[in-house]
Amino acid sequence: MSLRDQVAIVTGASRGIGRAIAVRLAREGVRIAGLARTRETLEETARQVESAGGKMTLYPCDIAETGPVATAIEEIARTWSRVDLLVNNAGITRDNLLLRMKPEDWDLVIQTNLKGAFNTCRAVLRPMLKQKYGRIINITSVVGVVGWPGQTNYAASKAGLIGFTKSLAKEVASRNITVNAVAPGFIVTDMTSNLSEEIRSEALKTIPLQRFGQAEEIAEAVVFLASDSSSYITGQVLQVDGGLAM
Ligand code: NAP
Repeated sequence: MSLRDQVAIVTGASRGIGRAIAVRLAREGVRIAGLARTRETLEETARQVESAGGKMTLYPCDIAETGPVATAIEEIARTWSRVDLLVNNAGITRDNLLLRMKPEDWDLVIQTNLKGAFNTCRAVLRPMLKQKYGRIINITSVVGVVGWPGQTNYAASKAGLIGFTKSLAKEVASRNITVNAVAPGFIVTDMTSNLSEEIRSEALKTIPLQRFGQAEEIAEAVVFLASDSSSYITGQVLQVDGGLAM
């Protein structure tokens, strides 16, 4: 089955990796529903999707909020009569050493990165079960695999997302729905642009390919997991990290 005319929900589509995923999927002919909090930057992604020959509808909302996410996904399913692909990409960091970490920064990261995926997956399962087809791709992080100082909240959310991916994969495999994760390493986006020069050069030393990755390189992995080429793969974590966590 070609990806053409499939319907994909991409969270965090307004910037960085999510924008690259939306544009790359659009190039395959996939119709995109983009979720993020900021309408203006979602509109810029929609323009780039159109330039790639595609179409993206916008659903500004906070993925941590169960009700608005469910409403948005119900509307998407009603509009397109199906949802083939969900890419859980939206995520945040609030870094600090554990001793200095504020409880609200712990909560916000877990609510966004982990509960966000719970909210979207729960809402998308109804149409996917009905159509007996679906692909769910969760963007986790190498930090969820190997840990990183100053990121206990983020690492916990991303490691949690890996366990979530495997458990859900087992729940829905019999319904022809696959659930996989992509674990990026250090990728050039807003998220990494504010890292200090010291952290950047320390990080670089840990990457065998000796460079940060590009958002487009994550999008390629997503297209693979969305396509028929990966039809017998479920519950896996594909690391796209220049060899950082091998
Ligand atoms: P980014 O440039 O900071 O973009 C984050 C995206 O998530 C934005 O579109 C943002 O849009 C959206 N978002 C954040 N909080 C949200 C919320 N509560 N509700 C809805 N949307 C929300 O980050 P990125 O680097 O592209 O990261 C994308 C994903 O890859 C994240 O899950 C991140 O953890 C993961 N990742 C990134 C790297 C890296 O090196 N960059 C490495 C490993 C994993 P709004 O602000 O408009 O809501």
